[in-house]
Amino acid sequence: MRERWRLEARGAVQGVGFRPFVYRLARETGLDGWVANDPRGAAIEVEGPPAQLQGFLARLAAELPPPAAVHQLLRTRMAPAGERGFRILASDARGERTAQVLADLATCEACLAEVLDPSDRRHAYPFANCTRCGPRFSIVRALPWDRPNTSMERFALCPACRAEYEDPGDRRFHAQPNACPACGPRLALWASDGRGLAGDPLEGAARALCDGAIVAVKGLGGFHLMADAADGAAVARLRSRKPRREKPFALMLRDLAQARTLCRVDAAAARALASPEAPILLLPRRPGAPVHEDVAPGNPYLGVMLPATPLHHLLLRRVGRPLVATSGNLSEEPICTDEGEALARLGGIADLLLVHDRPIARHVDDSVAWLVAGETRLLRRARGFAPRPVRVEAELPPLLAVGGHLKSTVALGVGRQVFVSQHLGDLETPEALGAFERVIGDFLRLYEVAPVAVAHDLHPDYASTRWARESGLRCIAVQHHHAHLAACLAENGCAGPALGVVWDGTGYGPDGTIWGGEFLVGTAAGFRRVAHLRPFRLPGGDAAVREPRRSALALLHELGEKIEPEVLRRMIESGIHAPLTTSAGRLFDGVAALVGPWQRTSFEGQAAMGLEHLVDLSVGDAYPLEVVGEELDWRPLVRALLDDRRHGAAPGAMAARFHNALVEGIVAVARAVGEPAVALSGGCFQNRVLVERAAARLAAAGFRVLLHRHVPPNDGGLSLGQVAVAAARLDLH
Ligand code: ZN
Ligand code: ZN
Ligand code: FE
Repeated sequence: MRERWRLEARGAVQGVGFRPFVYRLARETGLDGWVANDPRGAAIEVEGPPAQLQGFLARLAAELPPPAAVHQLLRTRMAPAGERGFRILASDARGERTAQVLADLATCEACLAEVLDPSDRRHAYPFANCTRCGPRFSIVRALPWDRPNTSMERFALCPACRAEYEDPGDRRFHAQPNACPACGPRLALWASDGRGLAGDPLEGAARALCDGAIVAVKGLGGFHLMADAADGAAVARLRSRKPRREKPFALMLRDLAQARTLCRVDAAAARALASPEAPILLLPRRPGAPVHEDVAPGNPYLGVMLPATPLHHLLLRRVGRPLVATSGNLSEEPICTDEGEALARLGGIADLLLVHDRPIARHVDDSVAWLVAGETRLLRRARGFAPRPVRVEAELPPLLAVGGHLKSTVALGVGRQVFVSQHLGDLETPEALGAFERVIGDFLRLYEVAPVAVAHDLHPDYASTRWARESGLRCIAVQHHHAHLAACLAENGCAGPALGVVWDGTGYGPDGTIWGGEFLVGTAAGFRRVAHLRPFRLPGGDAAVREPRRSALALLHELGEKIEPEVLRRMIESGIHAPLTTSAGRLFDGVAALVGPWQRTSFEGQAAMGLEHLVDLSVGDAYPLEVVGEELDWRPLVRALLDDRRHGAAPGAMAARFHNALVEGIVAVARAVGEPAVALSGGCFQNRVLVERAAARLAAAGFRVLLHRHVPPNDGGLSLGQVAVAAARLDLH
């Protein structure tokens, strides 16, 4: 008695060794049939005795190797065909494109061992990979996941690689980017004018780095600019050429042992660093860590990552010491992906370029993460995570969302999945805008989806809003802080209503003022503003972002103090070029400028970050913060702070009392509102003291606390929220 089943697997099933796994399983359970990738995932037809079929199904679920993941398995019975043997069929390119594009995966242990083994044919080969690791998103051009659809298409497999590729028992069976020194991509070392240099490229780059050079290294999703992290002159040159005055540089380290010499690495941190996503992780730096002070001036944390490709492993091993690894771009432009472009854009920064001939299909920056209560949370979502979908509870119509303006991402909702793009950066330069448009085109092409509408921010002047308006698609405007709340709800599988404490720098309010210290109650479908920080006039508007003293003066003016210079006072009094704002970010800036040295800063959030780092964690008391009707009045807080300052209080104590006051204010509003679930969102919740203390106090008071997990709390998460809001609105109409 034979039966034949057709199984359709949806989820992360392409490029992860799923077909070889199914092949082995079918052979072991003695079933006949085939497995193939299809545009929506993978299809399997198996034939055999019912008991064996059941056994196959049970093992399919139980033994699925990571990073494969099946979200849905559809089963239909068919007439037995009398097929003999089990085969892997060529991919089927018809149908809807919802198969998942896998994120790039850091080099696995087996591949690294081969690369380090002098007797292996891949010894010292920078592009080794297998079905468990290697490039995915950064090389795929179309679905399904097959070699001709990737930027590996130009490299023909040599007989040895082809044998691995075709052997179901091999780790590289159908590993699409499979390569070796005989047939795969190669390195080259260039002078800054593009001249090829003789000798071993890796050796040459390593030697130059040790001698203090800046080397642009073409990696997985783009170029890094690298330099010896202990060499003050090299770091200073990199800062002046890029230019990047004070913003911390990330570091790439040889291995966990080296990470432990620089930072405090606990078990959760070690797991995150060595994970296939291999993000930049912010970790507390050890006193005397062997890196130059200018790498992260005045910062008690270091952003560190481990090598994600054999190329980086080999380079770090040859250099031996920690390297600065900052994105290969000018200031806030998108990261360079092409060596020709890199010559033009990075030639003036780098002394040498270490390049290779495997094209990068799209730019993917390093992800940035931190640990909150032992859990990895994202601050920038790109390599290793994008374009992994966020699963949502409700079925979505095809929807595009274009995000905000800073730390931009776009998102595409299809079915129960929201594909959130990699970090695109601030839409301030033509290059960034170009990348934004490319990624939208890229996503629509990759998934072959025709969106029924486009969701955008309510701000009429954002470049993303203008793009949406000109797209010809039906537009759905989403209020900035509502999108933050909806994103947090969506990724926590919470339908709401919930209280959203949404604090950030700037977001366009429906009343035309600048919001940013908001308490909203709502769901994806709608919200009401139940409370907010007391508004103040910000002299010069956006100019205050880099000049925290303007925020400080605005606060002092509200207290009735006479402020200088007069030009700023007149701005505030007349309201001309001094918009009203409830921005929590600017409140942080203002207080930072009153407590510390940050009158002018060189990057957004610098003053608030400095204030957070000042906090004396042993100080438990708080300044008074009053809830008056719908207003959280910070004037008593600032008055008490000024009093403290007059009496010569320690800055660490003042910073602590300020943070504690905000936490108490959040808890007081939550109690007054009475919603059982409280979501914390917005860029201010990248502040460790604020988020950890607020979450702990809320939980202790009996609230369910929702924090971001798959997307950042900053504007990088807006596109997800916009999809959720747009879907709910379409549902209503
Ligand atoms: Zn591998
Ligand atoms: Zn080969
Ligand atoms: Fe925001």
